[in-house]
Amino acid sequence: MTQYSAAMQIFLRWAALACLSIAAYAQATVTVTDVRSTAKADSTRLVLEVSEPVTYRKFHLTGPNRLVVDLSATSTKLPPALFDLTTGQIRGVRAARRGDGVRLVFDLSGDFPSKAFTLAADAGKPARLVLDIAGAPAVVQPARSEKPAAKPVPTITEAEPTLAAPGRDIIVMIDPGHGGKDPGALANGGIREKDVVLAIARKLKAEFDALPGYKGRLTRSGDTFIPLAKRTQLARDANADFFVSLHADSFPKGRSVYGGGVYALSLRGATSETARWLAKRENAVDLSHGVDLGDVDDDLRKVLLSMSVDSAIRISKQAGTEVINEMSSVARMHRRRLEQANFVVLRSPDIPSLLVELGFLSNAQDVKRLTTPREQSKVAAAIRRGIVSYFERSPPANTVVYQKKRSNPEPYVVVRGDTLSAIAQKNGTTLAAIRKANGLTSNAIRIGQKLEIPRS
Ligand SMILES: [Zn+2]
Repeated sequence: MTQYSAAMQIFLRWAALACLSIAAYAQATVTVTDVRSTAKADSTRLVLEVSEPVTYRKFHLTGPNRLVVDLSATSTKLPPALFDLTTGQIRGVRAARRGDGVRLVFDLSGDFPSKAFTLAADAGKPARLVLDIAGAPAVVQPARSEKPAAKPVPTITEAEPTLAAPGRDIIVMIDPGHGGKDPGALANGGIREKDVVLAIARKLKAEFDALPGYKGRLTRSGDTFIPLAKRTQLARDANADFFVSLHADSFPKGRSVYGGGVYALSLRGATSETARWLAKRENAVDLSHGVDLGDVDDDLRKVLLSMSVDSAIRISKQAGTEVINEMSSVARMHRRRLEQANFVVLRSPDIPSLLVELGFLSNAQDVKRLTTPREQSKVAAAIRRGIVSYFERSPPANTVVYQKKRSNPEPYVVVRGDTLSAIAQKNGTTLAAIRKANGLTSNAIRIGQKLEIPRS
């Protein structure tokens, strides 16, 4: 009996030690110390620098397309740059704890294959995990319904990971035009453009700040002079997602000219005489202070030729159209379509930007409207609604708005030729799950019907 007991004790001691060492082994020992990416039009290479050689496994999921990489025994403390990553192939990155390690989920913009390999530490370089994702992103995303029901979609058995990085706010940089020694347009009664636009800019900032997922910023919060180039620099420094410059000029051609207008950057020419005149006038502010921004320098020319400008202008135009629609409902408009001209203040190549002409200080009715607090609030709310309706449709990855949209995807709208089983297959779910989610008693659907697609 005592012998048995001694053997048992030895066994227990051994077992305890073994458990201890397993537990120690299971603790996160690898840290991802840095992430670098090289993005080309048709591929992305990601290099994760790790403190020690890492064991990984990767697989793909479709509907929507994702690349999942599980890193064993890895700390969930990840470099923040990882979550800011977007390339032609990667729309966003999420992470979650998984066992003793971490699961990385790359949201892909298409069904792209990937390769992965590890590199040992050498020549002063740390150990690395290299991920290559290849494939040209589609220029135009076909509507979900137009995609052929191609290869069978694998069933997703593993739960969608929770979000590790909290989403960031969408930052809207609001630029009240003029300021300081530059009063802008003047009207009777000592009314100055710089004061009018500042009052409305403050209200617009408050509108965004009151909205979850958005943050308003001001290029100037007081009566200070800021050169035009500095204004866009402030937006870039703040990592702004959008830039909106507010003005209320006076029009020399007549006091009968009235109403608001919305302008985007054009690299070619002005779309109207008013747009050309406004651009000349707004651009002149800096010329008169000795800063020559009239000629595009070589560096800027290069940037202007890049894709990002085209995409920034495209976003500006889409958002601008929304702003016009909203403004039209609360204020008189000079023009009901988006105008374009070469405004210096809008030349931030990477940030979608708009110049909003709130009205004309040369017009008595506009002056009254723009100096009445209630009317100021109305126009600020309209501009906010316009910008927000753009972002609600196309939120940048890793923002609160993006995550909310992902977790509450819009319902699927049935189109001609759809069958319930094809919809289920396309979305990586089952016929039964769709029927249950929508309370359907048969497989009959009709064109235009909205269906909730259950998340697997
Ligand atoms: Zn102005």
